[in-house]
Amino acid sequence: MKITAFELKAMQRMQPGALTLNGFLGSDTRPLNEIIDDDAKVLARLHYSQEDVAARMEYFFRISWETFLGDELVDGKYEVQTDVFRGKLPCPYGHVGLYRKAITSVTNSTNGISVIWTPLNIHMIRDHGFFEGKGSAFRLEPDILVRAIFE
Ligand SMILES: [Zn+2]
Repeated sequence: MKITAFELKAMQRMQPGALTLNGFLGSDTRPLNEIIDDDAKVLARLHYSQEDVAARMEYFFRISWETFLGDELVDGKYEVQTDVFRGKLPCPYGHVGLYRKAITSVTNSTNGISVIWTPLNIHMIRDHGFFEGKGSAFRLEPDILVRAIFE
């Protein structure tokens, strides 16, 4: 599958030092459309859509954002915390708007799986199906993420 000019431009913005120090692609050498396709297949196999996943991430983010109490036990089994940092980030796809710098961590006490993400991750999953490249600091493996937030 051929990469589009739009995707190519996004890939340039995902390089280290463009929008963020470390970029979004990690050590992944696949073209952006392949990264997205491969993750979409994993999600489809698990019967979740990128909207389902993003909505669930947004749910945990909202609860922990509004409490400001540090660790929050959500639904009796998810330990959730959001730390907020100074500054905002744009989406590498070049959309209008900025995303707060914040890190949400969720630990599922049933299976012990922990994941972290940023508000930009939620947007990139919902609108672009992009979970970041392998080796990137905020890469989310779709199967691990699904286990962490739905099990
Ligand atoms: Zn975007």
